[in-house]
Parts: sequence; structure tokens; C-alpha cells
Amino acid sequence: MIKTDILIIGAGPVGLFTVFEAGLMKLKCHLIDALPEAGGQLIEIYPKKPIYDIPGYPAVLAGELVENLMEQAAPFKPGFTLGERAETIDKQPDGQFLVTTQLGVEHLAPVVIIAGGLGSFEPRKPQLENLSDFENKGVYYMVKQPEDFLGKKLLISGGGDSALDWAIYFAEKENTSVTLVHRSDRFRAHKDSVEKAFELQETGRMNVITHGEVSALEGQNNLESVTIQQKEQPDQKVTVDCWLPLFGLSPKLGPIGNWGLAIDKNALVVDNTFDYQTNVPGIFAVGDVNTYPGKLKLILCGFHEATLAVQTAYKIINPDKHFTLKYTTVRGIQGF
Ligand SMILES: Cc1cc2nc3c(=O)[nH]c(=O)nc-3n(C[C@H](O)[C@H](O)[C@H](O)COP(=O)(O)OP(=O)(O)OC[C@H]3O[C@@H](n4cnc5c(N)ncnc54)[C@H](O)[C@@H]3O)c2cc1C
Repeated sequence: MIKTDILIIGAGPVGLFTVFEAGLMKLKCHLIDALPEAGGQLIEIYPKKPIYDIPGYPAVLAGELVENLMEQAAPFKPGFTLGERAETIDKQPDGQFLVTTQLGVEHLAPVVIIAGGLGSFEPRKPQLENLSDFENKGVYYMVKQPEDFLGKKLLISGGGDSALDWAIYFAEKENTSVTLVHRSDRFRAHKDSVEKAFELQETGRMNVITHGEVSALEGQNNLESVTIQQKEQPDQKVTVDCWLPLFGLSPKLGPIGNWGLAIDKNALVVDNTFDYQTNVPGIFAVGDVNTYPGKLKLILCGFHEATLAVQTAYKIINPDKHFTLKYTTVRGIQGF
């Protein structure tokens, strides 16, 4: 059985930063993540995209931010159970929590911090009969390695940030042809991105089709072409190498949803007036997984929540001790 001070469910950016903040208070952390590597959405969905709103970094690639967070956490020697989903939680007679993964690995800790983000990653899939025949054979729901798509004929569907950002990214690359299809003429994506997409269309770098939808997929083994249905237009068959339906991820809390914690719209309700604790004392929720009035699903908000959560965690773990906050510039980083 793995024993630790704080058990963190989810090794995304917020879970990783929790290790650092807990480490400054001499609290040891262990993380469980269902994915085979740490980094959460940043590694799973957009490792090569630049993030512009991390304080102190005018721009940082998502993958690089995760590397830096791992480096920052390293002095505190966190333990990892990767590739396993936290399945059940049971409160023990001594007040500690026993968390067991789907493979039966047991973890015991007096404090649990859930940093489970969107939970399990389930892309929203279009309703097309033979879709599964072409999954990973021309149909991709995420861009993990942008290099794999360079020099290809790409069709990207969607009207949100992910669809627009990738359409712009690839349209600016040599030899890569991009058609963006959206079922409406109103986009959810950031206004600047929408303007940029139409500018690229004017210069012939991108083809934007509005009021359109992919209605059929064709190909022998791999995807070869798709049919696009467009309002008041005849159907058109377009030759493609890859189709990226980027309709977002449907949030699924997974097993955490059955842990008896207060939930509102698929997220864990926390006390944002104080320490981001859930309705169960000793269980906290930080980052994208939680909700409270005014919640923003941003990395820096998760960092703040984690910093406050570990203050109460310290008091639970060390009821007789008092911790005095000292700046890292004064006390430095004293690892384990
Ligand atoms: C395309 C895109 C661009 C974005 N750009 C920005 C941006 O520019 N700036 C910004 O601030 N934010 C951005 N975001 C949002 C940002 O990625 C999230 O706010 C951030 O990832 C939240 O971090 P987290 O650690 O809370 O959760 P996540 O990154 O979602 O990590 C949660 C982890 O928990 C794991 N997990 C869940 N349930 C279990 C379980 N039961 N057992 C084990 N493991 C579990 C998951 O596998 C996952 O690895 C963007 C998001 C997307 C999709």
C-alpha cells in the first residue's frame, strides 16, 4: 500500500503545481493519473500549442510548461501511479482515505486533493455510420504531433477555439491545404481567430465553408474523401488525407462522480471563500474539476486554488503545528 501526506488525483498542470506548494510546507505527495504520462490536457490535447497567459511567460509551449512543472516539483520527490484510474475512495476508522485504482493498487492518505480536470477524455464524435472504420486512418480527434499533418490535405470541422487554432496553424504552413467547415456562420472561437481565418481565406491560404457539415466518409482502407452537405448548395465530394472533427471534449467525471461529493453540472462544488474543500472534510478539488460562482477554467486559477488548499491540508495533517509562510526568496526550496 502506498502511504503519503497528500494524495493527488490527476497529474495535470494543477496537480503538479500542488506538489510544489505542498512541498514548501514539507508535505509529501503522491499522484494518480489515468494517462500514461503527466501533463493532463496540455500533453493529451495540445502539447505543441503556445500558452500566453501564464504569468511571467509571454509564451510557453504547453509541453514545455509541463516539463517545467515537473522540474519544479522534482525536489519534493513526488510518487506517481500512472496509467491507472482512481476508482473508489473509502474513509478509514482513523479518518484517513483509502483510494484504490481499477488495477487494485491502494493508496492511503489523510488528505485527498482532486485535480481531475475534465475527467476522462471523451471527444465529441460526429454521428456518422462508418466513422469507426476511419478512426486513426484519416480521422483524428486531437492533434498530438502537428508534424504528422504537414504537407497534407486537411479538412477541419468545428467552430470553437480548437478547430480555429489548428486551422490557422496549418494554413500558415507550406504545402498544407486546409478547409474549415462549420455548420453555422457564428463561431464560438475567439473573435481574433475568426477574423484571422477569414483573412487567410482571402489570401487563398484557407477555404472556409459555413453552414456546412460532413455527411459521409469514403475510402478503401484509409479515408480518401468526404461529402460535405451545405445549406442551399449541392453536396460536394472533397478529396482529403485527414479529417479532424474538433468538436471539443464531453466532460465525464468518471468514477469521481460516484464518491458522494456535491456536484453541479459535472463539476465538484467547493468552498471558494476559503480553501477549495469539497463537502467532505479532507477532500479538496482544484483546477478544472471544481466549480464555484465565477469559476474560470484557467491554469493560473488552478494554481491559486491549489496554493490555498494545501494551507488547510497542513492543518489537517499537523493539527498541533503552526506553519509560518515565508517567501521562497527568503527560505529557498528545501526539498526532501
Ligand atoms: C485546446 C485548449 C487550449 C487551452 N488553452 C489554455 C490557455 O491558453 N490558458 C489556460 O490557462 N488554459 C488553457 N486551456 C485550459 C487548460 O488546459 C486547463 O485549465 C488545465 O488543463 C486544467 O488543468 P487541471 O490540472 O485542472 O486538469 P487537466 O489538465 O484536465 O488534468 C486532469 C488529469 O486528471 C486525470 N484524471 C481525471 N480523473 C481521474 C481518475 N479518476 N483517476 C486518475 N486520473 C484522473 C486525467 O487523466 C488528467 O490527466 C486550454 C484547453 C484546451 C483544451
